[in-house]
Amino acid sequence: MSKKLLLKHAHVEGIRTFDVYRKHGGYESVEKALKMEPDAITEEVKTSGLRGRGGAGFPTGLKWSFLAKPEGVPRYLVVNADESEPGTFKDRYLMEYIPHLLIEGMIVSSYALGANTAYIYIRGEYSWIPDILEAAIEEAKAAGFLGNNIQGTGYNLEIYVHRGAGAYICGEETALLESLEGKRGNPRLKPPFPAVKGLWACPTVVNNVETIAAVVPVINLGGAEYAKIGVGRSTGTKLISACGNINKPGVYEIDMTITVEEFIYSDEYCGGIPNGKRLKACIPGGSSVPIVPANLLLRTINGEPRYMNYESLAEGGFATGTMMGSGGFIVLDEDQSVVKHTMSLSHFYAHESCGQCTPCREGTPWMFKILKKIASGQGTRNDIDLLWDVQRKIEGNTICPLGDAAAWPVAAAIRHFRDEFEWYIDNPDALTGNYGIGNYD
Ligand code: NAD
Ligand code: SF4
Repeated sequence: MSKKLLLKHAHVEGIRTFDVYRKHGGYESVEKALKMEPDAITEEVKTSGLRGRGGAGFPTGLKWSFLAKPEGVPRYLVVNADESEPGTFKDRYLMEYIPHLLIEGMIVSSYALGANTAYIYIRGEYSWIPDILEAAIEEAKAAGFLGNNIQGTGYNLEIYVHRGAGAYICGEETALLESLEGKRGNPRLKPPFPAVKGLWACPTVVNNVETIAAVVPVINLGGAEYAKIGVGRSTGTKLISACGNINKPGVYEIDMTITVEEFIYSDEYCGGIPNGKRLKACIPGGSSVPIVPANLLLRTINGEPRYMNYESLAEGGFATGTMMGSGGFIVLDEDQSVVKHTMSLSHFYAHESCGQCTPCREGTPWMFKILKKIASGQGTRNDIDLLWDVQRKIEGNTICPLGDAAAWPVAAAIRHFRDEFEWYIDNPDALTGNYGIGNYD
């Protein structure tokens, strides 16, 4: 049975409301934190080993310690709720069902960082959630946990919810800041990192929803206790949104010690694959991470079981491993076509590219066109090599990670499923109808 830190009370009736949330221990971390020195909170977060839950897995305490603190310059906390990675919907679940957990984590985090203003930047498609968050903010304010002189300590904090307009690229932290400033969401070059020059050129910490929610158990338990949960550098719990060919799609909280096999087949989690089908492949961390075939998903190249944590999923590098990413776990059974799946993802990235960098702007639609050609039975073997060449020229040559994110799925698909690409090329007559490729024009 997995340990629950974030979703423990998710199914308690009325947990969305302040009163019920408070009755279940809500806002105790704020009371504890306000009695601590801000830097001591950052130290607890460092000790906890908490890593960024948005996808990159960067150590949260370390990021906080990079925050510049020039005299007289405001600092900001920005929560990245622009959750748009295909297959990823765990932040939505947190915000929708336990909004006070996020607000509580934001108060503790803002106090630690010395921020008096914090923002939640939420993706436009989550249109019903801002109202839920704003109601929670109002309740917290009425109870003296937000606004001026919080709990009589003299600390002030305002939280604002800002709605995005539906662009995937605005989840990239610097594009998000541009958008929050009212501009087009084009990513900025890093460095400088937001911790030094962020919102309105002021020091800013940008953290994912789940990361900030996890600050609550870190403070309640203490960093050292939190670090005992999990394994190695994968401390604490992680939310996984599971979808695709599984019996029980949903959001699960795991403690990162379970095997991938257990996660897919156990009734506590995904409950196996429908209709007794075989597992073909999986994208375990949202669409930006490499797809892996079943054999390498369940076991590492050394034959060891593969575990649901940052290190184990990445073991073997991209040759045989993948990444934890955002925890968007997409399962493909034996009937699924990796070629069509990759084509669909390529279409997504081509559509979402902001167009600033030539390799991404030109390369992403080019990859989509080649994939569509292959998927419709008109490809040649040279197209596979061309596709490989195009993705190679995108990776590492762009301003933001969207370029890499578009290239990696294509590279992994060719690396592990080249025979399937060749089958499409060699058997055009076997393809019927619209080839399942829909209308992408
Ligand atoms: P990154 O590795 O560039 O940065 C991680 C974080 O650490 C950033 O906040 C960055 O500012 C900070 N950082 C790194 N080095 C620093 C330094 N020297 N000083 C100060 N701060 C520093 O990765 P990223 O661009 O933030 O995120 C990429 C990831 O986002 C991808 O791996 C992908 O999995 C994920 N992603 C998630 C979603 C989603 O919906 N959750 C969508 C798209 C992509
Ligand atoms: Fe824009 Fe793509 Fe360049 Fe990112 S990599 S800045 S999305 S063109």
